[in-house]
Amino acid sequence: MLNREMVIANRGVLDQPIAFRAVIGGKFIDAQSRETIARESPAHGGPISLYPRATIEDVNSAVAAARNAADTRIWSGMSGRERHRILLKVAQIIEARRQELGLIEALEGGKPIGNVDGEIQSSIDNWEYGATLARHTYGDTYDELDGPRLGLTLREPIGVIGIITPWNYPLGAVSQKLPFALAAGNCAVIKPSELTSGTTLILGEILLEAGVPEGVVNIVCGYGQDVGQAIVEHLEVDMISFTGSTAVGRKVGAIAGETLRRVSLELGGKSAQVVFADANLEAAARGVATGITLATGQICIAGSRLLVERSVAVEFTNLVFEHMKAVRVGDPFDAYTQVGPVISSAQRERIQKYLKIGSEEGATGRSAALSERLRTSKGYYVAPMLFSNVQPGMRIEQEEIFGPVLVAMPFDTADEALHIANGTSYGLYGGVWSKNIDRAFAFARYMKCGTVEVNGYLNGSPELSVGGIKASGIGHEKGRHSIEEYTQLKTVQLSLDPVFSGH
Ligand code: NAD
Repeated sequence: MLNREMVIANRGVLDQPIAFRAVIGGKFIDAQSRETIARESPAHGGPISLYPRATIEDVNSAVAAARNAADTRIWSGMSGRERHRILLKVAQIIEARRQELGLIEALEGGKPIGNVDGEIQSSIDNWEYGATLARHTYGDTYDELDGPRLGLTLREPIGVIGIITPWNYPLGAVSQKLPFALAAGNCAVIKPSELTSGTTLILGEILLEAGVPEGVVNIVCGYGQDVGQAIVEHLEVDMISFTGSTAVGRKVGAIAGETLRRVSLELGGKSAQVVFADANLEAAARGVATGITLATGQICIAGSRLLVERSVAVEFTNLVFEHMKAVRVGDPFDAYTQVGPVISSAQRERIQKYLKIGSEEGATGRSAALSERLRTSKGYYVAPMLFSNVQPGMRIEQEEIFGPVLVAMPFDTADEALHIANGTSYGLYGGVWSKNIDRAFAFARYMKCGTVEVNGYLNGSPELSVGGIKASGIGHEKGRHSIEEYTQLKTVQLSLDPVFSGH
């Protein structure tokens, strides 16, 4: 058990890495190969975690355990009330361990210790809400068919769900899937990202302690190309629920298509924030700056494109940049830090590559300053950056950068703004800022994306579904509709003999 105060006092430098174990069939195990994956701090480069690197045999064991749990109905055969109580207990244990979970997220992901709690809280909220849906899974009856025949549409669990998650919000991402999959009576095999597996493995302990039977949820660690792909290809896995990049999502979808299994894909984005001159410009500027800097811009729904009405474009863009500059980038274990490093050197290189592309395309970049200490540190720090003189169609306007890089474009008419907003391959999220409710609602209706926020950004609730369209994915998570994602329909027809004359 880590001493939180000591870890914070040492700025996240550990004497030795935390050794995690996989969860298969209710047992905590090392990989059969005994190989591990070492995670190093994105803030200072020192050792943080060791995850057991699963082999194909480990994946097979995890799938076999889940298959057995599904086929013997140890979970789906419980009443909704029993599942509800266990899922609620999961939420309570996460609550009791929230500081430890937050600490691991800060260590592995480089998120500021002062603001990791938001992710833990939203995870708790999802487990609590998911628990209620365990008592809310129901089908339809048709009593007006021909004669005494009665038709029933039942909702059944799908069986074994393969869950694959990204590094940016590890506990948050699995908590957008698993509570709902379990509420509907499914079993699961989970692979978190090789960069941030810690909190998902701790969740494995929590599930068992809460009373989820052994084998219902199995968690293995490893890289995508071997372990992830083995889960996706395994024919005893009935559905894949994947969150990650569009490039990998396409591969996952292709395999699911070829083998005719259900798939849910939560993928990348290039979301637009549309600001009209009549908006509360101060609130909008704060919302736009936070929307691209929170978690160092490594959020799928980051508002990475700013579209602003031309009459206020210069003034508003300057205001946004002032807010971006004021964001305190720093060591995740400094109490006042708002934004930490990015996740890896590869991610920093990717961002730097796009900064170069932006300049080559003719856009004008402005960057917030990074202190000498951060520039020379071993951490992967990146300063927030704003590009103006951006034309729709430029690569920096079309492609997901996944960093604190905002591109700003003026518009003259609402039609033009809508056209630019809808003009990428993605369709995840959008924001519109205006006091004109007719206009704001028209945008909400016609922006081609899964969620639109009016006069706010990055809000969310477990009751509200999220999901992308176009290259941002297929399917929805959270909300009561998540039960539809994780169930399949079964039609039952009862041909009843008439008992009363004519009935
Ligand atoms: P990624 O696609 O590289 O990896 C995601 C997960 O897939 C990881 O666990 C990885 O190991 C695994 N993986 C990689 N190759 C695989 C393969 N061939 N088969 C099976 N699994 C494989 O994404 P990332 O870099 O971890 O995360 C960032 C991306 O995730 C961004 O594009 C971001 O927009 C997206 N994202 C989307 C949402 C959403 O809800 N739409 C949420 C968070 C992140």
